[in-house]
Amino acid sequence: MARSQEIQGRITAFARQLGEELGEVDDSDALSWLDAIETQAVEIGDAVHAELVKQQSISRPVADESVCPECGQLSRYRGQRSRELIGRRGPLTISEPEYYCPACRRAFFPADPLDRRGA
Ligand SMILES: [Zn+2]
Repeated sequence: MARSQEIQGRITAFARQLGEELGEVDDSDALSWLDAIETQAVEIGDAVHAELVKQQSISRPVADESVCPECGQLSRYRGQRSRELIGRRGPLTISEPEYYCPACRRAFFPADPLDRRGA
């Protein structure tokens, strides 16, 4: 993925600000100064990753209805629910739409309609 210059500029500014706030890296328990700063950078990168996924899941468009996987009846959107899962880089919290089927009297969470693994 090509990273736009604007995003790169914001990453540079964010990293500079973080560096100033974090101050001198404590490398007393690390293999080297580079090892210590990389450990810190990976932790921050993972936290940014988790927050970006969470925010993007909140802002995804939601359909008013979805087909019940049990009986095939159209079911109404009931709201968003948070779900904890393990992503590529560790724990994530995403927001996903919940639907309620009156025939089955149960809530369900449809599979991601954009998931292309089965196609
Ligand atoms: Zn149903």
